[in-house]
Amino acid sequence: MAHEKAGEEASQLASAAMERMTEYGIPPNPDNFMVWYMYVSQVDPDICHRIDCVIAQGQVFTKEECNSLYLCCMAFKSNEIDDMRDEALISASADIEQSVAQVMSLLEEAGADAERYSETLASADGELASANAVGNVRNIVSNLVEETKRVAEQNRKVNQRLEQSNREITDLNARISDVRKEAMSDGLTGLQNRRSFDNLLQDAVEEAAAEAAPLSLLMLDIDHFKKFNDTHGHPLGDQVIKLVARCLSDCTKGNDTPARYGGEEFAIVLPNTEIDGAAAVAQQICETVAAKKIRRKSTGEMLGNVTISIGAAQFGSSETPDDLIERADAALYTAKNRGRNRVETAPAGPALRVVSGAGAA
Ligand code: GH3
Ligand code: MG
Ligand code: MG
Repeated sequence: MAHEKAGEEASQLASAAMERMTEYGIPPNPDNFMVWYMYVSQVDPDICHRIDCVIAQGQVFTKEECNSLYLCCMAFKSNEIDDMRDEALISASADIEQSVAQVMSLLEEAGADAERYSETLASADGELASANAVGNVRNIVSNLVEETKRVAEQNRKVNQRLEQSNREITDLNARISDVRKEAMSDGLTGLQNRRSFDNLLQDAVEEAAAEAAPLSLLMLDIDHFKKFNDTHGHPLGDQVIKLVARCLSDCTKGNDTPARYGGEEFAIVLPNTEIDGAAAVAQQICETVAAKKIRRKSTGEMLGNVTISIGAAQFGSSETPDDLIERADAALYTAKNRGRNRVETAPAGPALRVVSGAGAA
């Protein structure tokens, strides 16, 4: 990774990044610096290519272009983090495999030893029966004592190794569970991330279909967020995303799981919930977010508030997760069109045809 470069090389790259930013009239803020540092260190060919194209075409690096480049860099970094997590998982699994293989080979050895020992006992038994002198008996017994000591020692070693292995495997399992948890959560907000949301919705849909239970989905999107970023800066935008995420966590309970769907969009899976209940939760979230006052910490300046729009849809039993997302998204789109800071619900989704059953009066 770029920031792992040694001190001297890193400061050369930092100077080169600053020089380029001056050359192209780019404001030297932290976001832009990250973009240009990544550019001069050539960590990602796509980012380099995009920048080279703008330069080659003699275009200027507008605020929008800089912002878009920054988002590309963030996406690259988050992929990098995913790769690191995958590597950590693979390495932990390999360690476990190695540990188990060592124990297996020790157990095999111990098994072979025990077999040899029982053969020794059996043959000593035969020798004892036919022994006709005290000297012979003493010899046989002393051999047996030696052999018993050896096997006891071997058993002690195996037990020790087993205990050690047990500790190693417990540690590795904890490591795997930490990495998994991290891999499922969003770095900025701590909510479930998109990958986790996809799994969660898939499971929820299967369960709702199997048990004929209700299930609802909310899709949420911050209103006019681009303008907020442009006016107050990306870092404050990030703080707002965190604030909205906290509101979602505060307004949901039980099995209702909020997730960051991407950028400034969120989703909430609500198992065992009919559309009316989902709309009520959504309304409460809308009001909670709108009531928050945004303050710039560094100056104490009050910046007003942000609002969100929400689309709600109830699962129709013949739908796929994507169908459900699409309907909730369409309701969200309607909420945007009808003025934002509001909740809209999708019409009922397609249900499996009930061939016979109660309730058909
Ligand atoms: P609408 O009310 O229609 O949703 O308008 P909008 O401006 O919110 O929507 P648009 O899709 O035009 O812009 C979304 C903006 O969200 C653009 C992007 O800069 C910003 N954004 C996306 N992800 C992040 C992020 O992680 N942090 C910050 N600060 N901004 C982000
Ligand atoms: Mg959006
Ligand atoms: Mg938006």
